Amino acid sequence: MRLPDWLDPLEQDFPLGDGTAETEATVYCPYCNETVEIALDPGSGSAQEYVEDCEVCCQPWTVSVRYRQDGTARVNVTALDQ
Ligand SMILES: [Zn+2]
Repeated sequence: MRLPDWLDPLEQDFPLGDGTAETEATVYCPYCNETVEIALDPGSGSAQEYVEDCEVCCQPWTVSVRYRQDGTARVNVTALDQ
């Protein structure tokens, strides 16, 4: 079943695999407030959510990634236990 175009055009037109999608992002750890660079996987889709540990303090984050149509990523990191 195809979703109607007006519902989520990002899902329809996401430029997967053409090399324009961002593959890394800089985030702030909600636990230790350090700046951490994380790797992104555009091949996993335009909307992702997963758990990753902070490189600095090893606390678990919930990472939300949303790709825009131009391939830029909006990344949001929250503490797993919140
Ligand atoms: Zn941390």
